[in-house]
Amino acid sequence: MADARDGHVTIIGAGIVGASAALHLLQDGWRVTIVDPEAPGSQTSYGNAGAISPQSINPMAGPGVLKQLPGWLLDPLGPLALKWRYLPKAMPWLMKFVAAGSSAKIAAQSDALAALHAPVIDAHEALAELAGVKHLIHRQGALTVYETEAAFLGDAAGRDRQRAKGHEIHELGPDEIAQLEPGLAPIFKRATWAPNSGHTVNPGALTEAYAATARHMGAEIVLARALGFEIGPEGPTVLKTDRGDRPLDRLVIAAGAWSARLSAQLGEGFPLESERGYHMMLPSPGFTTRRPVSFNERKFMTTTMEKGLRLAGTVEFAGLDGPPTWGRADKLLRHAREVFREVDLAGAERWMGQRPATPDSLPVIAGSGKHRRVFYAFGHGHLGLTGGAITGEHIASLVAGRAPSIDLSPFRIDRY
Ligand SMILES: Cc1cc2nc3c(=O)[nH]c(=O)nc-3n(C[C@H](O)[C@H](O)[C@H](O)COP(=O)(O)OP(=O)(O)OC[C@H]3O[C@@H](n4cnc5c(N)ncnc54)[C@H](O)[C@@H]3O)c2cc1C
Repeated sequence: MADARDGHVTIIGAGIVGASAALHLLQDGWRVTIVDPEAPGSQTSYGNAGAISPQSINPMAGPGVLKQLPGWLLDPLGPLALKWRYLPKAMPWLMKFVAAGSSAKIAAQSDALAALHAPVIDAHEALAELAGVKHLIHRQGALTVYETEAAFLGDAAGRDRQRAKGHEIHELGPDEIAQLEPGLAPIFKRATWAPNSGHTVNPGALTEAYAATARHMGAEIVLARALGFEIGPEGPTVLKTDRGDRPLDRLVIAAGAWSARLSAQLGEGFPLESERGYHMMLPSPGFTTRRPVSFNERKFMTTTMEKGLRLAGTVEFAGLDGPPTWGRADKLLRHAREVFREVDLAGAERWMGQRPATPDSLPVIAGSGKHRRVFYAFGHGHLGLTGGAITGEHIASLVAGRAPSIDLSPFRIDRY
């Protein structure tokens, strides 16, 4: 086992994944530096829908999604969009995504996600307690609503997989939906109710609190952008940043959607795409919901947060550097008018974030295959808040040379 007493770990990225890893590494006794040009928790981890959902074990490339893909791509305001000039760049990833949708692969990916996600609420509660922000985590379940019986039936295999892994999934009709969430318009025929799901009412503040606690526990937070490495016979020895060079001992790359640019410089490229997503915050919608609600056919979610109702969703392939397509966020307002009985849209604020997406919906949580002291924690896609805290725990095990509590081989970096 590695001895933390005289060891130092540099973490690139101060999102939910990097901040969680920092807390676990500090608890193990490592000295920690976090490098990020932006304030902790200010990127993708800021604006998500807040769901911490252990029952989310079905990969994105399921048969339902693949069947609907062409129709969505042709609808300029559908739930999924591709900037056509970006198509040649996205094509290799999209082909891997389609290939990940075979039933044998779906079963294996789902098993891996089930093992990773089983303890995610406990994992966040432990870190939130350490950070003094346990009030930000709620256990009030999650609701998925369906406007058509066909869409509900289309998700049957996914529900079977969830139940096979021990998740409680109840099937509801219109009256029970209205009882659980009276603010919803009476347009939903069916719903599923996962009573053991959780959420945070402020994902940005949660991440910020993890990072601030890491700082109180002795971590150094350096506002700098990692640019590259000097690599010696033992692996990277120097981190080059826009604020100068820094010596490296152990290194964790947790830079969200930007991670593959860095891993490639260490000789370990990975097919990582940005699935851009949008949110709209409604400061005073006129009602509250008690738990996250997913609107199945419209592919977006709503969560009552500390500062209002968040409408979050849509997937857009347009790369890391293109300008936002704000029309996609505005479309969320159109949905809101239709899915709630009455909603006040005044003062809505728009946001865009970059989901770090892998073709098989599994993150990379792994030691490097090339450099003994390099570790990867990225690619959590639609579920990085869910998986952030537990990923930190697994990364601390890998850095220490301890056996992780689950089989991490499905999450290795060299799987493509
Ligand atoms: C609309 C939307 C809704 C979502 N809803 C949910 C949800 O309900 N539940 C859920 O579990 N997940 C959800 N997600 C996904 C989740 O937000 C992400 O998976 C998660 O935030 C990723 O965390 P991260 O720490 O990997 O990345 P980030 O939060 O993006 O952090 C990465 C950090 O790395 C830094 N960085 C980048 N490049 C460099 C560099 N060169 N040098 C130094 N630092 C660098 C960035 O500045 C950033 O701070 C949603 C995402 C979106 C967009």
